[in-house]
Amino acid sequence: MATCEICGNQYDKCFDVIIGGKRRTFDSFECAIHALAPTCNHCGCRILGHGVESKSGVMFCSVHCAKNEGIGGLQDRAS
Ligand SMILES: [Zn+2]
Ligand SMILES: [Zn+2]
Repeated sequence: MATCEICGNQYDKCFDVIIGGKRRTFDSFECAIHALAPTCNHCGCRILGHGVESKSGVMFCSVHCAKNEGIGGLQDRAS
């Protein structure tokens, strides 16, 4: 039995995510996304796909959002 670090749920199907060498424990992807997914700098949505990153390290969910922030020349990493 493990405990989700976000909602505190004790659940026998919790899973661990190792990120930056640190072990994080969650009971659901919802909680893992809440803790780990970056946020789009334009529309504020959680970035669950590949996303795009500007040269200065700012994250966007899509090229469309980056363009709306005046950042051009980016390509979707999924393409
Ligand atoms: Zn949870
Ligand atoms: Zn966006």
